[in-house]
Amino acid sequence: MCPVILESAPLSRLCIHTITTKPWSIEEAATRYASAGVQGITVWRDALNGRNIALTGRMLRETGLSVVSLCRGGFFASPEKEKRRLAIDDNRKAIEEAFLLGAPLIVLVCGADPGQSLDESRKQIKDGIAELIPEAEAAKVKLAIEPLHPMYADSRSAINTLTQANDLAEALQSPQVGVAVDVYHLWWDPRLEEEIDRCGRNNNLLAFHVCDWKTPTVDLLNDRGLMGEGCIPLKTIRSWVEKAGFGGFIEVEIFSLEYWKMDQWEFLKRIVSTYEKFV
Ligand code: ZN
Repeated sequence: MCPVILESAPLSRLCIHTITTKPWSIEEAATRYASAGVQGITVWRDALNGRNIALTGRMLRETGLSVVSLCRGGFFASPEKEKRRLAIDDNRKAIEEAFLLGAPLIVLVCGADPGQSLDESRKQIKDGIAELIPEAEAAKVKLAIEPLHPMYADSRSAINTLTQANDLAEALQSPQVGVAVDVYHLWWDPRLEEEIDRCGRNNNLLAFHVCDWKTPTVDLLNDRGLMGEGCIPLKTIRSWVEKAGFGGFIEVEIFSLEYWKMDQWEFLKRIVSTYEKFV
């Protein structure tokens, strides 16, 4: 593999997930992102609590932001039929929220349950997504299967590699369904370059999420790093994603107990500078 030297990613393609700056309300996040030159926002559903969703979507656009996606749907897997039913209902609600917000995409964290096999969870995930396709189509909202790092295979996602996500998206045979590539979950995979290429060839590459992997990682969920702080070859992976035809927003998604404690405006400035330097 040749080292890839790319020009920095342009600021116009930077999108930030609201959870990255969790201490801020969505209103404050929108104003601050826009004043830092950020043009995209991915909205986590908890940021919409107690708000008129359509008006919030309008506020975001009037602030100059593109609504890139809604996070998140999924969690289809459970040994209990009633829980699977509730999950489908919640995903229907997410589709409606995305429609009202004006978000063209919902990211799916597909789910898993330690009380059943991964194979069983995968069947339920496939059935769950299949059931949602007609509503997603009617709302013109796409669904992105996000494979999660195998450390989450017990309870968060039975889809752990891009190969599995591509297999699933292709099996569902719907233009409504594709894949989200998140470097945090996938950077270690020796098949990553060819699977990103496959994803692009099938028009299934819907989203690209970045952050970094810290050593040591002290919390399995909430210790993601800022770009450049860890060992993920961000520019190389970005070059694969772009070679596969993806020209959409590059989304910074960082869950971090450390960074949530920081002054969020200082943190935002670091996001912008590390994005420009390392992505
Ligand atoms: Zn992600």
